[in-house]
Amino acid sequence: MAATGTDRLTPFEEARELVLGRARRLDAEAVPLREALGRVTAADVRASAPVPGFDNSAMDGFAVRAADLAGAGSATPVTLAIVDESRAGHPATRPVGPGEAIAISTGAVLPAGADAVVMVEKTERAGDALTVAGPVAAGTAVRHAGDDVAAGELVLPTGTPIGPAELGVLAELGVEPVLCRRRPRLAVVVSGDELVGPNEPLAPGQIRDANAHTLRALAERAGAEVVAEARVGDDPDATREALAAALADADLLVISGGISVGAHDHVKGALARLGVEQVLWRMAFKPGKPTWFGVGGDDGPLVLGLPGNPVSAMVCFTLLAWPAIRAMLGIDDPPQRTVAILDDECEREPNRLHAVRCRLTLRPDGLHAHSTGGQASHVLTSMLGAEALALIPPGDGPLAPGAEVEIEPLPYASA
Ligand code: AMP
Ligand code: MG
Repeated sequence: MAATGTDRLTPFEEARELVLGRARRLDAEAVPLREALGRVTAADVRASAPVPGFDNSAMDGFAVRAADLAGAGSATPVTLAIVDESRAGHPATRPVGPGEAIAISTGAVLPAGADAVVMVEKTERAGDALTVAGPVAAGTAVRHAGDDVAAGELVLPTGTPIGPAELGVLAELGVEPVLCRRRPRLAVVVSGDELVGPNEPLAPGQIRDANAHTLRALAERAGAEVVAEARVGDDPDATREALAAALADADLLVISGGISVGAHDHVKGALARLGVEQVLWRMAFKPGKPTWFGVGGDDGPLVLGLPGNPVSAMVCFTLLAWPAIRAMLGIDDPPQRTVAILDDECEREPNRLHAVRCRLTLRPDGLHAHSTGGQASHVLTSMLGAEALALIPPGDGPLAPGAEVEIEPLPYASA
């Protein structure tokens, strides 16, 4: 029976639209190049001058006038007078006249009058006499001003993630500092009496907190800055206090655990008391049905309440918070879907989309997705090596191997 009324499960795509519909692009700030790796441009970057900035040599050799060597051959070598030198960073002080050559280094300014460079290996030098035993075409070994970037050219459009190559190009263009989108400020609160840290002794019934680590790592890889982390027990007042503190300085608050309807789940109640407006509650999705999303006012923080099961927390963060962070950063990279052939039988859920963690292999007949193993939402090792989620549509009985399904790559796996 289809769920209705308060029991209605929001279809996954609709849930993601609800989240992304509230994600606003953040303001810009000037960032020194040394700190700009992983940031996103907040304005078009255009070249204020051409790159290279001047005609220069692609080789070590001699700048010449091609016409002087037109008749050169092994039987008719031509001798030119070496009249100056152009070194990288130290241009020659005079032009190349007829019958002359200027010694030149790679990257040095091509002297006026010259239209080609003869590589040093093709010459013989005796004092200031240079002998060349073959012709050279005009333009040989010359790198022209602007042949990489023309003056005024758009090099990096707004919204470009800055990687090593972008950093190098920005430096070449003399863009320092660079205008970047502010990183989303993210707070992570994990909730549960049973949680302890990786070094703390385990009392009976306690478990180690995995989500504080997976969520922080995902947030940072998405480009957010984790500004607050807290762990809170299953107590209504403590939960409200922890959430109030986390909300104070965050663009996005992510909470794991305590979001559901158990007697000891206090997150939804605390968020309601703090005035955070509910936008989404429960998705037709596995793992992560009890997912909650809300906003703290018009321009207030986004709040994502994730189920505590570690796989649900990771998967739902990746599918919902990741694209929200990217949208705040102004990156236009909507989640990509493609089709793959299932290698394993996969359980279908009667009324929920089932996301199965997969590894991918490209074979002659197409992309294959094979399950990482047990898919229960507490089996965190099923995330190890996972590259994509196979999205198994709702239905009855298992889906047989060989079926074609949509997959969504896990963006953090390739970041
Ligand atoms: P909850 O969403 O609070 O009902 O928790 C669901 C399951 O996830 C329970 O088995 C919790 O012990 C487990 N869990 C909750 N938070 C975490 C966490 N931070 N790390 C690992 N497991 C957790
Ligand atoms: Mg709990």
